[in-house]
This record gives sequence, structure tokens and C-alpha cells, in this order.
Amino acid sequence: MKKELLINGLKIEYELQYKKVKNINLRIRADGSVYVSANKRVSQTAIENFISSKADFIQNALKRYAALSAKPRRQYFTEDEVRRVITELCETVYPYFKARGVKYPQIRFRKMVSRWGSCQPTKGILTFNTNLMYAPKECIEYVVAHEFTHFLQANHSDKFYKELEKVCSNRKMLQKQLKEIFIY
Ligand SMILES: [Zn+2]
Repeated sequence: MKKELLINGLKIEYELQYKKVKNINLRIRADGSVYVSANKRVSQTAIENFISSKADFIQNALKRYAALSAKPRRQYFTEDEVRRVITELCETVYPYFKARGVKYPQIRFRKMVSRWGSCQPTKGILTFNTNLMYAPKECIEYVVAHEFTHFLQANHSDKFYKELEKVCSNRKMLQKQLKEIFIY
């Protein structure tokens, strides 16, 4: 069902679906809409508090979505192509992680607006955003290295970045470059 909520004067429209989930999940769909799934036991107040706590995340994602859809961007790869490029980069970086005891993950692709990739370490799954077709190859290399590093360190801790820099020495520059492509 469609709902809306006012947070700091900003109206957030979202779609709520009751599902057999643990508590509440929120995600921004590729079309920029906000989707919330919640367990039936969760009260409307709890849902609204949860959304409020994610206000910054939602606002940033929506800004990114607006930028993605409004600005003409240079397209480096076609959507097919980008899958191949990412898969090849995964294969290239993998030997380093194999030596650290990481199993070759399942590689998935999805159009996303709130992140470039995600890692589910316990399930052995890496998901990449096909919008990376708007990024040059070196930025995609950074994303691949970043997601693989999550198999070693789950959070964005200092330890994580130390590990990442071992496989991606200019990660700060690439991270900045990637931000400039997508966030204005
Ligand atoms: Zn990360």
C-alpha cells in the first residue's frame, strides 16, 4: 500500500508491504521509489520511526536517482558489456582473495541507485550495479576490489580500508571519481 511521511518538512512517499521478514527492511528501487517491507507485528509508529532514522540515506539516494535520470552522462559500456567487464575483473582480482581463503562468490547484477555493489559474506554473493556502465573501468575495478574486501572485513573500518588499499592502492582517488560521476 502507498503511504507518505513528513520528515523535517520533506514528504517521503513509500510503498509498504507486509511480509514474513524479521522486522523492517527499506530499499530504494531502481526507479527511485521507496519500498518498505515489514512484519505484520510491527506497528505503524515503529515503521515511521524506522523510516525517519533512515532519512539521510533516503535523501541521498533520491538525489543520486535524480542525478542518474536527469544528467546526460558518458556511457562507457553497454549493459551487456558491463556484466562481462565486471565478471572479468572479479576473475582477475580473485587469486589474491583465494589465497586468503575466500571462495569464489556468486556474481549477481542489478540496477540500483543507492549503492555500487553489495557483499553478503556469509552467503558468498556479490551484487553489482549495472549503472556502473557509466563509470570508467578503473572505477569499476575499485568497486570490485571493495566488494571482495568485504569477505575479509564486513564493516568499513580502518582495517577494511587497509585491506582494500593492498589491492587498490589509489582507492581514495577512484572513490572520489566515482562520486563525481553520480552525485552532483
Ligand atoms: Zn562497502
